[in-house]
Amino acid sequence: MSELSVNHLLGIKYLNKNDIELIFETADHFKEVINRPIKKVPSLRDITIANLFFENSTRTKLSFELAEKRLSADVINFSASQSSVKKGETLIDTVNNILSMKVDMVVMRHPNPGASVFLSQHVDASIINAGDGAHEHPTQALLDSYSIREKLGEVKGKNIVIVGDILHSRVALSNIYALKLQGANVMVCGPKTLIPKHIDKLGVKVETNLHKALNWCDVANMLRVQNERMEISYFPSTREYTQQFGVNKTLLDSLDKEITIMHPGPINRGVEITSDVADSKQAIILDQVQNGVAIRMAVIYLLASKIKQ
Ligand code: ASP
Repeated sequence: MSELSVNHLLGIKYLNKNDIELIFETADHFKEVINRPIKKVPSLRDITIANLFFENSTRTKLSFELAEKRLSADVINFSASQSSVKKGETLIDTVNNILSMKVDMVVMRHPNPGASVFLSQHVDASIINAGDGAHEHPTQALLDSYSIREKLGEVKGKNIVIVGDILHSRVALSNIYALKLQGANVMVCGPKTLIPKHIDKLGVKVETNLHKALNWCDVANMLRVQNERMEISYFPSTREYTQQFGVNKTLLDSLDKEITIMHPGPINRGVEITSDVADSKQAIILDQVQNGVAIRMAVIYLLASKIKQ
């Protein structure tokens, strides 16, 4: 039986191509399950999962919880704002207390880059990184590639541009690793101030002209400007950002071909994309959300089968 090469999902950086293929094949199966009238399988009846969210989340938190419940796991939820973390407890103490209640797996979102790697070295549970600061968001990148594969047949050889705030985006970094691993051609596009200096070392093209980038690509993944991670201003005004890097229907219609539009959410309508684009048939934003549940079921299932051995 095939299995993942890792015991935790800390980042796409730690996966290989076979891991991604195995996750996708497993997600294909779970996607079929969640479209049945009875959307549940008893696979993880003996597994307990703690969702630890030290940072806000809507989609990711609900998606993980739903994935866990569809697999029949026992689930406990923790959110930092209502916890003893505010009283000064350390991350390891918090997690060890939770694990002493016989928890097998921890899904964690944390504002500090590297928090889940750190945790995996100090506690005895399987860890899934649900976003660590501006570092990685591996399940988002997996569901993004899975959605491209579903829409275009395969990821290999496709031209994908990631547009916007590359500097502060964990979605961008995880997507770059995942897409390169699968043989896609990757470009980043945005204001120079929001593109990390040596990003070309990751094997991606850099373009600051959105029209050129869109004409080159098959898929454009539009990122949100991460205002919460900015202490200074990286562009003159939101209006100017939208004029240069926002996608609207007129711009899409002026291209030589029909491209696919993605967005990890939450969308700032009217900033990085207009509503007529977000709601158009070229956008696969809600497919991404739906695929997120199947991908997370696959990741949890594959990691849990390694715990059980
Ligand atoms: N939801 C994604 C994340 O958690 C993207 C975003 O927040 O803009 O990173």
